[in-house]
Amino acid sequence: MKITRVRAVAYHKLQTTTPGWKISLGARRPHDTTSVIFVRVDTDEGLCGIGVSSPGLMVVSGETEAYHLDLIKNVLAPAIVGADPFEIESIHLSLDAAAAKAERAKAGIDLALYDLMGKALKVPANKLIGGVVNGSVRVTRLMGLYEPKEMAERTKAIVQQGYSALKLKVGTTLEEDVERVQRVREAVGPGVIITIDFNQACTPKEAIERINKMEPFHLTLVEQPVRKEDFKGMALVRRHVGPLIMADECVNTPAEALRVIESGAADVISLKFPKMGGLFKCRKVAAVCEAADIQYLVGTAPGNRLSGAANIHLAASLKGLTLPCELGEFERYLNDPCSGLEIENGYLKPPEKPGLGVEIDLAEIGLAD
Ligand SMILES: [Mg+2]
Repeated sequence: MKITRVRAVAYHKLQTTTPGWKISLGARRPHDTTSVIFVRVDTDEGLCGIGVSSPGLMVVSGETEAYHLDLIKNVLAPAIVGADPFEIESIHLSLDAAAAKAERAKAGIDLALYDLMGKALKVPANKLIGGVVNGSVRVTRLMGLYEPKEMAERTKAIVQQGYSALKLKVGTTLEEDVERVQRVREAVGPGVIITIDFNQACTPKEAIERINKMEPFHLTLVEQPVRKEDFKGMALVRRHVGPLIMADECVNTPAEALRVIESGAADVISLKFPKMGGLFKCRKVAAVCEAADIQYLVGTAPGNRLSGAANIHLAASLKGLTLPCELGEFERYLNDPCSGLEIENGYLKPPEKPGLGVEIDLAEIGLAD
C-alpha cells in the first residue's frame, strides 16, 4: 500500500461551552476559540485515514493556523507521498527531515496513519501500539483560571456529572491561588483528586510557599510550577513540597524527558501527543519514563472526539499508568463533527471499531470523496 495524497482543512465550527477560559501564560486572554485541522491520508488501495491536529495556543506553540496548514500541505505531505503507511518509523524520519520542529502538524499525519493502519487491519488503533492494558481510564477534567468562587461552582457541577479528578489552572497571586484550591476542595469534598497547573507562573520560592499553604486542601499533583527552562528550580520545588511534581511544558521529546528525569525535576511527566508529534513518538517518551521508573499520565489534547479517541487509545496501552488522565476536554465543545466517544461516570474506554474508532462526518469537515 502506498500513500497517494495528504490533505488538511481547518474546521471552525467547534464552539466552546466555557467562555472566559484562561491560563496563566501570556497575556491571560480568554481562549474562546480553538483551531482544529483535520488531515486525510489516501492510499492507492482506496483506504483513507483521518487525523486531527491543532496549532495550539499561540503563546505555547508560536504557530498560527495558516502556518500550520502550510506546513502540512506544502512541507510534510510531499515528504511522505509514495511511502508505505505501515512504515511509520521511516515516515517520521521523512517528516523530521522535511521540518525539524513541526510536531503539532506531524501529529495530525501520525493520527491519520494510525486510523488508516487500523482500518487496513480491521483493528482498533491501540492494537498497533501494544493493545489494551487499561480497559477503562479515570478522567481528569480541567478548569480554566476563573475567579475562585466561579471556579468552585464550575468544578462542583463537573463532579456532579460523575467525575472524581480535577485539574485547576492557577498562577495569579498567592492569596487567589490558595483561595481557588480551598473553595474547590470545600465544594467537591474529600474524595476528589485535585491537580493544579501553574503553567510556569512562579519562581521556585513562590511555588514552594503557595503549594505549602495549600497543604490543608490535599493536592495530589502540581504541574509545571516554574519556567520550563528552570530544571534546578523545579527540582528545588519538588524537594520542598508534598504533592507530586509534574513536568509539562519542559518535555516535548524523549531526550527532554531524560534531562528532566536526570535533573530530579519531576515525579511525573505529562504525555501529550500533539506537542510530541503523534502517538508513535509519544510512546517513545513513555518508554523513557518506564525505564527510569517515574510516573506518567496522558495530558490534554484539547479539541474534539477524534483527538480524544487517540488519547484514550494511548492511555489504554500504557503499562505504568496509575494516575487519572486528561481525556475529557472534548466535552467542552459543541458542533463536533465526530461522534461515538462518550465518558461514562468519569471513566473512558477505548473505541473498539477499526482505526481511531469514531465516526466522522467527512462532508461536514470538507474531506468527502
Ligand atoms: Mg500544563
